Amino acid sequence: MALDSETMQGLLESVARFVRERLRPLEHQVAQDDRIPPEIRREIAEMGLFGLSIPEEYGGLGMTMEEEVRVAFELGKTSPAFRSLIGTNNGIGSQGLIMDGTQEQKQRYLPRLASGELISSFALTEPEAGSDAASLKTSARPVEGGYVLNGTKRFITNAPHAGLFTVFARTDPSQPGAKGVSAFLVEAGTPGLSLGPIDRKMGQSGSHTCDVIFEDCHIPSDALLGGREGQGFRTAMKVLDRGRLHISAVCVAMAERVIDDSLRYAVERKQFGQPIAEFQLVQAMLADSRTEAYAARCMVLETARAKDRAEDVATDAACCKLFASEMVGRVVDRAVQIHGGAGYIADHGIERFYRDARLFRIYEGTSQIQQIVIARNMVKALS
Ligand SMILES: Cc1cc2nc3c(=O)[nH]c(=O)nc-3n(C[C@H](O)[C@H](O)[C@H](O)COP(=O)(O)OP(=O)(O)OC[C@H]3O[C@@H](n4cnc5c(N)ncnc54)[C@H](O)[C@@H]3O)c2cc1C
Repeated sequence: MALDSETMQGLLESVARFVRERLRPLEHQVAQDDRIPPEIRREIAEMGLFGLSIPEEYGGLGMTMEEEVRVAFELGKTSPAFRSLIGTNNGIGSQGLIMDGTQEQKQRYLPRLASGELISSFALTEPEAGSDAASLKTSARPVEGGYVLNGTKRFITNAPHAGLFTVFARTDPSQPGAKGVSAFLVEAGTPGLSLGPIDRKMGQSGSHTCDVIFEDCHIPSDALLGGREGQGFRTAMKVLDRGRLHISAVCVAMAERVIDDSLRYAVERKQFGQPIAEFQLVQAMLADSRTEAYAARCMVLETARAKDRAEDVATDAACCKLFASEMVGRVVDRAVQIHGGAGYIADHGIERFYRDARLFRIYEGTSQIQQIVIARNMVKALS
């Protein structure tokens, strides 16, 4: 464990209190304005939440995977836009740098990522390369002193706010698959880097994505992550293993939140002269949701612990992402059902979670891609 149990308990309690007292009252406003108030960003930074998984020597909290998912179990009990603000700095936006960056690259960026001064984004997906990320076309042509980037990245979380992008581009055009891909650290404001308009989305208002466009964008040689070409795709896959566990923990948290809301509603709401919570058909929905959320919680914790023991968790992390994201989809659907007409009406908030949850089955690998990863690894393990 990175933190002693008392410090960890204190942190979990302050995150839970922050969610209850500061974030939950703002959920509706954030959804309406599609914006997280700047004072909330400051408070999140003061709590150290931008640097949960960044090593202590660079100013972060250096949490283990188990500690990180425990924080996500608390922080995820509100609109996912709040978690998304810190999500890239702790996950896909910084992990490539932590795992494979040079000392110099880590020193240059990690302290500012840990403090929240700098937001980072992970730029892998392209218009023609989503699930099949290894087919990406963005090129990094070697030139005197560096590389020239050309291409477009799509749906990049936090790109409108990012100061740093981990960009995956092809350095070897003779290698069409994963082997020809390298990762680069590209700073916002580099000439030739521009952003598309902010995407309008089904849910998760307050969290923003957009295209990141490279047109003859010159970057220096030391922007190459880890100083080695051809390693980019391996870096991306390692980053996603960790990211999948974090997202799974957020799915558990959202499920637990809406189960709590549903239970309270079911106890208060009366029909046929009694609380609807006394009808067995409503109880079945509550019980199924509770059971599935508990199963996902156990899976996530167990896999996080295995990761902390340095075991290979690629298969189990995919199992967690598949189960937890599908589970929260079923749980929010039941939550709408338990709330009846009120569940469908925007003011109540439950329909917002219904829309917000839909993304979890799509990004950081769709459910079908998790199934493919799991089955492929099962077959490989036999041979
Ligand atoms: C809000 C949001 C935020 C995102 N943030 C980021 C980010 O920060 N960085 C980033 O790089 N990307 C990001 N993404 C991109 C996301 O990871 C991709 O959308 C996702 O991986 C799916 O790719 P795609 O959209 O191209 O769908 P496609 O790959 O075109 O898939 C379409 C459908 O086909 C299925 N399919 C594809 N291949 C197979 C197969 N072999 N077998 C069976 N079914 C298959 C898929 O499961 C899916 O159902 C984000 C996306 C969204 C919507």
